[in-house]
Amino acid sequence: MTVKVVKFGGSSLASAGRIKQALAIVAADPARRYLVASAPGKRSGADVKVTDLMYRLQAAAEADRPAVLAQLEERFATIVADLGVDFDLAGELALLEQGLAAGEGPDYFASRGEYLNSKIIAAKLGWPFLEAADLIRFDAAGAFLPEATNAALAQRLGGLEQAVLPGFYGATPDGRVKTFSRGGSDITGALVARAVAADVYENWTDVSGVLMADPRIVDSPAGIAVLSYDDLHDLSSMGASVLHPAAVEPVRRAGIPINIRNTFHPDDAGTWIQADAPAPGPAARPIIGLTGREGFALIGLVESGAQPAGRVAADLLAALDQASITVHLTADQGRRHLVAVEAERYREAVQRIYAALAG
Ligand code: ASP
Repeated sequence: MTVKVVKFGGSSLASAGRIKQALAIVAADPARRYLVASAPGKRSGADVKVTDLMYRLQAAAEADRPAVLAQLEERFATIVADLGVDFDLAGELALLEQGLAAGEGPDYFASRGEYLNSKIIAAKLGWPFLEAADLIRFDAAGAFLPEATNAALAQRLGGLEQAVLPGFYGATPDGRVKTFSRGGSDITGALVARAVAADVYENWTDVSGVLMADPRIVDSPAGIAVLSYDDLHDLSSMGASVLHPAAVEPVRRAGIPINIRNTFHPDDAGTWIQADAPAPGPAARPIIGLTGREGFALIGLVESGAQPAGRVAADLLAALDQASITVHLTADQGRRHLVAVEAERYREAVQRIYAALAG
């Protein structure tokens, strides 16, 4: 039997109306049996993502907390009421307050957006809710444990026809909640897809797949029908924000294709990401993914001398990493090395590289 894992992003689940659209997609295909949910995202441009409200709640001074809690209550109370589910929101909000009193950290609070949204969605579907903190494993130092996680997920999901899981977080052995980096629900979706050996990992978002160029720069760019995992990796490393980069590995190793789809245009085919993109015929246009960000500076370096091959590139990247300077693109062309960094940190990056290689 075909098994599809569906992950819905925050904009697809930002309100009860949107959750209903997502659930209609689930209902349309009985193969869609495992659902991974993000926290409610923005309902409009001026809105605040629930995850950001949660971070704000944790960081707020005591006197400012009630106002943030009221905003969170408003978000979830409307969702619960409009979906018409029986849900103990008061009890859940009391747990948040307990967390504040206990001095829980930012990861705990950030995870609560996914936790609450998934629990509400599970109640609406009548499917079991699974607590990600019991299944997605990190070690005591906070490093993600892919194999332990896969074993735990496979065992738990093996006995279930359907389930809803919150994205974005797991826990360390002592039960402390640990999140992935922002956008990490994509990773949870991929882990679930691997664990149940899904036929496809459907990633539902608010665009109809990967576009050939940034729509904020190019007017109505064409979509890309099929991309290889490698193409996607290259596009992401050049700044395309399609999928969390760490979401590719779990499904790539299991040979599961990713289908990026639009919740608001469910009939669009979206983009398929799989092992091999079809070879373009002689007359075909190339698959291009035009990406880039403004405000970047490119640093070029030519190596000469008796360094063993690869040493310079490694030292250069290590120096930038040590200074927490994010490298957004590297090209290693034998003796020529190119790296792109944020323009604001350009001078510092050059100084660091100089000190590491020649100082
Ligand atoms: N809610 C988290 C974020 O805003 C994770 C996710 O949506 O993937 O980054």
